[in-house]
Amino acid sequence: VALALQSASAFDAVEKQATTDGLTGVANRRALDRRLDEAVARAKRSGQPLCVLLTDVDHFKSVNDAWGHATGDEVLKGVAKSLEAQARGTDVVGRLGGEEFVVVCEATDLKGALTGAERMRLAIKGLSFDTAKGPLSVTSSFGVALWMPGESGHDVLERADQQLYKAKQRGRDRVVGD
Ligand code: GH3
Ligand code: MG
Ligand code: MG
Repeated sequence: VALALQSASAFDAVEKQATTDGLTGVANRRALDRRLDEAVARAKRSGQPLCVLLTDVDHFKSVNDAWGHATGDEVLKGVAKSLEAQARGTDVVGRLGGEEFVVVCEATDLKGALTGAERMRLAIKGLSFDTAKGPLSVTSSFGVALWMPGESGHDVLERADQQLYKAKQRGRDRVVGD
């Protein structure tokens, strides 16, 4: 039994490593894609609304340039933690790559997702990072899309990305969705 338990926890550790982003601890790209596809399959069956939030830290390149890559990494960790704190228990938070994060919100209509995204935006904006040069804060932009029947996970994520692009164009530090 002890051996079985030991290998079960070793299995869990390996699985966690394979599905988790090393820097931030949220779901990695691969796990996120899978969780999104599963959520789409459930939405098809249940008829419940499903929303996808895509967020990207504003002017993150200049954070790295001005404060250093280590501070940039701290910002990414703080943003991920903040998203997880604001998300509901059934939401999935994942890192798409770089400074882009996704929140998959099942059983959530567009109005609810926009409200959630706004709460997350304000929480990120309220973070303060200690650096050698004093406190640093960042803003982020959000694109929100409601899954539509017939769409794949990839499709709805792409629409969230189009909304994110609009949020950037309209001046950043805002939520745009449809
Ligand atoms: P925008 O407001 O349009 O999003 O501007 P931006 O500067 O955030 O966008 P851009 O895509 O030009 O820059 C993204 C930066 O993210 C560039 C890259 O160096 C940085 N980056 C990507 N991954 C990591 C990481 O793991 N750690 C750190 N510190 N920086 C990263
Ligand atoms: Mg950015
Ligand atoms: Mg980016």
